Amino acid sequence: MTRDVSGLARLLADHPALRDALLREHVARPDGRCRACGSQVGLTTRWPCSLRSAAEQALRLAGGQNGRTSTSSA
Ligand SMILES: [Zn+2]
Repeated sequence: MTRDVSGLARLLADHPALRDALLREHVARPDGRCRACGSQVGLTTRWPCSLRSAAEQALRLAGGQNGRTSTSSA
């Protein structure tokens, strides 16, 4: 089951630099765990982690709209 990261994804869609950083850092290790999450808390998180999922979702949100978001109705 997918975790609900839609709120974070919408936020990241408006912050490409942060999104790219997450995509760059939260990569799979050879053992299938998240490298960034594992190094931060000493525990290993199965990859893709929540942050990775949100960043990928944000990428789809941003990419599907030519870099523009529809968070405002204007
Ligand atoms: Zn992670």
